[in-house]
Amino acid sequence: MSDHQSLLSNYSGRPLRIMEVCGTHTHEIFRLGIRSLLSKNIELISGPGCPVCVTPPGYIDSAVELALKHHAVIATFGDLIRVPGSEMSLAQARSLGAKLKTVYSPLDAVDFAADNPEKEVVFLAVGFETTTPSACIAVKRAAALGIKNFSLLTANKTMPQAYKALQGSADAFLYPGHVHAIIGTELCEELKNDYGVSGVVAGFTAEAVIKALGMIVEYAQSGEPFCDNAYTSVVKAGGNVAAQQLVNSMMEPCDCVWRGLGEIKGSGMKLKSQWSEFDAVAKFSLTPDDGKCNPICRCGEVLKGICKPCDCPLFGKVCTPINPVGACMVSGEGACSAFYQYGQ
Ligand code: SF4
Repeated sequence: MSDHQSLLSNYSGRPLRIMEVCGTHTHEIFRLGIRSLLSKNIELISGPGCPVCVTPPGYIDSAVELALKHHAVIATFGDLIRVPGSEMSLAQARSLGAKLKTVYSPLDAVDFAADNPEKEVVFLAVGFETTTPSACIAVKRAAALGIKNFSLLTANKTMPQAYKALQGSADAFLYPGHVHAIIGTELCEELKNDYGVSGVVAGFTAEAVIKALGMIVEYAQSGEPFCDNAYTSVVKAGGNVAAQQLVNSMMEPCDCVWRGLGEIKGSGMKLKSQWSEFDAVAKFSLTPDDGKCNPICRCGEVLKGICKPCDCPLFGKVCTPINPVGACMVSGEGACSAFYQYGQ
């Protein structure tokens, strides 16, 4: 047993709530059985880091409108197809004639548009700092090839504003290593110094997660805000400068609605006006609104760490991965799905 593992198992200090802000961490922590190693004084709570889970119903409504009213082919990663909108999911829209194309990267969608010039192809660009650069690369490629029938419906989000919005939800964050590989760690220092927000950047193996959790428990004893990087092999202070420059050259911040968290100022990224021919909102004159969540679903509270999936009366009875009522049960990275798959 490593020192950190022993510390996590035998910890008897003040109760600590640690939020993993990343769906990949949620999934891996369950899959690796890390929760079972923890002392009862350490509680892990899942945050809003699964991009599918935080996609609001209004965004799905816009995608449905593009498919049914404008007859665009919706190119997307598979999970988004089953996320509920206000009235229906894309999967339900398919039975009304919506054309959907599952892709594995935005570049697949560009290739599909090139091969089908008579069709409008809209790629659903969701995700955090890790996936936004690939959406920009796709637009650049479409522009370079002179492709006119490709656009993005953007719901790209940035984590820093979410960390601030979640301030007070937990004693510390387990910062997602892949996001910080892009944005670096200077932000963590800023969060600590300016907002008193604590956390440690973590990788995704069992050893890496245990190390980061152990560091959080050690630091928390002081009672002072802290930050550190337990994933130094990948995450550098300045992050990935080339990716940052690419995104900043093509996109700009915007206010953005997160399922469960509501609108967070400046937490989204949208294409700059010079790329508007690739912006589906401008191209199809959409007027997106927030949409309506199912009032019975407690995804919003799950995403803020206020309740656990098993506190929802629908969990495992009405709402299952086969028949998801809310977004957190759709994605394999969602907290409800992970609780269902791996038990509580
Ligand atoms: S169990 Fe289903 S209905 Fe309940 S919060 Fe999770 S996704 Fe929503």
